[in-house]
Amino acid sequence: MRSLKLYNTLSGKKEEFKPIAPGHVGMYVCGPTVYSDAHLGNCRTYVSFDVIHRYFLHLGYKVRYVRNITDVGHLTDDGEDRMAKGTKIAQLEPMEVAQKYTVGFHEMMRIFNTLPPSIEPRATGHIPEQIEMVEEILRQGYAYERNGSVYFNVPKFAAEHPGVYGSVSGRVLDDLYAETRALKNQEEKDHPADFAIWMKARPQDLMVWNSPWSVGFPGWHLECSAMSTKYLGKTFDIHGGGNDLKFPHHENEVAQNHGACGCHPANYWLHTNMLLLNGKKMSKSEGNTITPHELFSGDSPFVSKGYSPMVVKFFMLMAHYRSTLDITDEALLAAEKGFRKLMETNRLLQNLPVDPNDFDGSESDTDRAILALIENAYQGMDDDFNTAVAIAALNEMGAYVHKLVNQQIDAGEIAPWVLERLKGVFNLFISDLFGLQDETASGDNNTVEGLMELILDIRSNARSQKDWATSDKIRDALAAVGISVKDGKEGVSWSKNG
Ligand code: AMP
Ligand code: ZN
Repeated sequence: MRSLKLYNTLSGKKEEFKPIAPGHVGMYVCGPTVYSDAHLGNCRTYVSFDVIHRYFLHLGYKVRYVRNITDVGHLTDDGEDRMAKGTKIAQLEPMEVAQKYTVGFHEMMRIFNTLPPSIEPRATGHIPEQIEMVEEILRQGYAYERNGSVYFNVPKFAAEHPGVYGSVSGRVLDDLYAETRALKNQEEKDHPADFAIWMKARPQDLMVWNSPWSVGFPGWHLECSAMSTKYLGKTFDIHGGGNDLKFPHHENEVAQNHGACGCHPANYWLHTNMLLLNGKKMSKSEGNTITPHELFSGDSPFVSKGYSPMVVKFFMLMAHYRSTLDITDEALLAAEKGFRKLMETNRLLQNLPVDPNDFDGSESDTDRAILALIENAYQGMDDDFNTAVAIAALNEMGAYVHKLVNQQIDAGEIAPWVLERLKGVFNLFISDLFGLQDETASGDNNTVEGLMELILDIRSNARSQKDWATSDKIRDALAAVGISVKDGKEGVSWSKNG
């Protein structure tokens, strides 16, 4: 198995990946809060972890990838519940809101061609596990009850576990304490940094459960601690999420796991960097977002035209997951060009004949150069999943494909087995590792294009023979399935409505 390095937020360094159980990977990634549509920033994070998931699978690991759905109260700094907010606006049952946006999220993950996680637990389906965890944290003495709510005692935990609270965000306690001091709703707590692990419900709260302390709901951070422990064990390999979750969410998760289980939950913490819009973090609460659909349709002041899902995905993969990525029209246009070129190169490559008679038994310089580029692509992925490096190597390999097609290099210069390997590597990286789909050459599109050409040909024959009945019949039948035909100066064109 190839050696893989990943950047561990805990150490601030790239480390060699050593799984707890040989050949197995346990990975937990914080899932979406389903109170509104996922924005492109969320998609970037899940696309990044999808590539990580796919690379582990390719390396031969058995992966248990757990990504939750946050469908229960998620308190914002001003004390408003994000799920409840969505409910109030739409006048729906909370579970209707959760279901609607869970379906929408799944649809978006399908459009971006990501693999589903192995387990997708919902917070609301794990209330007993969360209550048990609160009980355990109380038993261990790291929490206290106040008027039906239960709070995690951060200063006590921090004092007894030096260096743990702050280990994910890499910040010192005083900074973290200063940040929490500004929050509202602090009255009940002993210390501003303490956080709720169980909240007593207020009259306006809709999603509530019975507990030993009150009718209420779990604190937001608790679900990930409870569900990761349930499905991956007390300590598992990888915990991931966007880097905006480091504090307070991940810091508090670590504290809860220590508090209940006495150990650190994950050996490696992986954090994706933010997608920016106009140089600022894309964020729902800031209103600085573009939805995937707006980007696909071009219906947004931020872009001059629509970009297909695969172009957007390629744009994301052109940057390493730990770099920020700024969405701009120019960058998307460049990504569109790059994506189309890569797809065209792959089509040309896959159609190149492999002639065993060309093989003269020796490796040419061209062979060695191509093999070195293949190794570069792999090394990019082995070096903390650097898709940018891998794409650059693919483009360089592509230059050889074009030279071969244009006969700038002789077919005999590339050994058949190297050509076969190149074909395999292209397909592997494009389809299996990046999950990119060739939109222009997809089977469905080809079939429809071919059928439409035939139909319009028959119609044009009918018209030239003044057989208006047949011509009209074709036009009406096409209209009935949402296809409109236009006769213009340039000839006949067709488009699908909606
Ligand atoms: P949320 O639904 O807000 O809990 O976010 C779901 C995931 O998307 C989390 O892992 C966040 O860290 C991540 N995320 C939120 N905003 C961005 C962004 N602008 N760029 C990349 N990831 C983001
Ligand atoms: Zn989480």
